[in-house]
Amino acid sequence: MNLSGDFLVVGSGIAGLRAAIALASVGKVIVLTKAGLSESNTGYAQGGIAASIGKDDSPELHAQDTLGAGDGLSDSDAVNVLVTEGPRYVKELLEWGAAFDRDAEGKPALGREAAHSVRRVLHATDATGREISRVLWNQVSHNPRIQVMDDTLVTRLLVQDGQCRGGVYIDKSGQEHFVTVTATLLATGGAGQVFRETTNPAVATGDGVAIAFRAGARVTGLEFVQFHPTVLNVPDYPRFLLSEALRGEGARLVNASGEAFVQRYESEGDLASRDRVARAMSREAERSGTSVYLTLAHLDYSFVHRRFPTITKACQQVGLDLATDRIPVSPAAHYLMGGVQTDLHGRTALPGLYAAGEVACTGVHGANRLASNSLLEGLVFGVRSAVAMAQPWQTPSLSGDVDSFEMRNLQAGTLPTEVEVKDMMWRKVGLVRMQSGLRAAVQQLEQWWMRLEQPGTGASSQESMRLLNVVTVGLLIARAALRREESRGGHFREDFPQRDDILWQRNVSDVLIDS
Ligand SMILES: Cc1cc2nc3c(=O)[nH]c(=O)nc-3n(C[C@H](O)[C@H](O)[C@H](O)COP(=O)(O)OP(=O)(O)OC[C@H]3O[C@@H](n4cnc5c(N)ncnc54)[C@H](O)[C@@H]3O)c2cc1C
Repeated sequence: MNLSGDFLVVGSGIAGLRAAIALASVGKVIVLTKAGLSESNTGYAQGGIAASIGKDDSPELHAQDTLGAGDGLSDSDAVNVLVTEGPRYVKELLEWGAAFDRDAEGKPALGREAAHSVRRVLHATDATGREISRVLWNQVSHNPRIQVMDDTLVTRLLVQDGQCRGGVYIDKSGQEHFVTVTATLLATGGAGQVFRETTNPAVATGDGVAIAFRAGARVTGLEFVQFHPTVLNVPDYPRFLLSEALRGEGARLVNASGEAFVQRYESEGDLASRDRVARAMSREAERSGTSVYLTLAHLDYSFVHRRFPTITKACQQVGLDLATDRIPVSPAAHYLMGGVQTDLHGRTALPGLYAAGEVACTGVHGANRLASNSLLEGLVFGVRSAVAMAQPWQTPSLSGDVDSFEMRNLQAGTLPTEVEVKDMMWRKVGLVRMQSGLRAAVQQLEQWWMRLEQPGTGASSQESMRLLNVVTVGLLIARAALRREESRGGHFREDFPQRDDILWQRNVSDVLIDS
């Protein structure tokens, strides 16, 4: 069914839904989402949403922590927007009925997470994303100006005379349909599924990055992938995130002999930033030749089960008791700091195209994201994008160098399977990177990409589109990781282990030159 309206929103996570609610006050909104309505990273978010609402907190302190995590690459204007506007939208969620946990005085209970200097994380037990989604869906489903269609996979943008005029989607049967609008928002979320080990659900294949790049928008910061240190690692069971809030409440990482080890590698111990904890775990596992574990056995038994019901259940399903057993953990790809480059109003390099949430790179997270800042970013920049979309297009000022990507000289290889791509990404473009592995990965990904882009190979089904996107985003991540010859935030090069502010305190964007 071809459609037309005022605004197209691609994605039904926190950024897309919050933007749709704001857009509905000025026009007709079409929301396309590629799977079930609530299937998104948002729905899986556990730990909470950060906002400086505590007595001992302030936007300045929140900014300071966010900039610290960003490791010298955050955009301070974007951070200021996030921390000053954030509390207002979190309070709005409370007004809309969000059942966040309360303290003894009835105020929202604030949790602590790594690299936050105070308690500032609002949460709904350990299923905060599910509660936020419920509240946003409640607003959307009562709004007659918002039309939501599930199982609609957006494959490309409609670009006419250098302007984005909407998008093209395929339905479950592979049939193509057109949506024509005046402004389009990509809110397609993250790309954890590009890696073999990930906390992200199946929908997180980086589609928005691939779609925007193919249409000529700029993508940036893609070398910065956050690997979460603590994911339940039991053979033959899906990986399940064990929220950082566990360590915030006192859980410890131990080796097979029961010794706490993180402090040996990182002076800040178990609550050092995620990339540091993840590398400490990987070094300890290598040194000892055994797994590493999370233990909560020293904490109050009933508190653990009450505070973390979802994680308790996930552990029970693999025969473990979160409160008493040692829980085997390992790192996994969790969050993409980079994405489609935007200004502070979600505007991209392509007129008529906006991006918000995890798909966007606003500059808030720099080289690493502070825990619980991404849900907040989805709210704040979802609304900001909506406000800009309702106005005539203004050319954004996008900072940083640009690296043009020419397809012309690339050789086509054989068609890969998705498992092959993800396995290679994990081994060569994962937690610890080296020039030799990155070069090999880029070469292989280029060949796969060329093969998939050949006429006739055709991304005509949802499956083939998924493979094309995984390969495209994998290639962009690997290229950016090879280019950045330093270590910073989530990006660690064994051959360049130091941060290099002289050469690398800057961002580089990729743009496709289709020759
Ligand atoms: C397990 C887990 C726990 C987390 N915990 C926290 C936390 O405690 N606090 C925090 O701040 N952050 C957390 N995060 C990160 C946070 O959840 C995400 O960054 C955030 O929810 C992203 O929101 P979004 O709206 O940008 O994207 P998403 O919520 O991922 O939504 C993207 C939407 O786009 C749709 N889509 C994608 N591609 C297409 C396409 N081609 N066509 C149509 N639709 C498409 C998807 O189906 C989905 O509906 C967690 C993430 C995970 C995976």
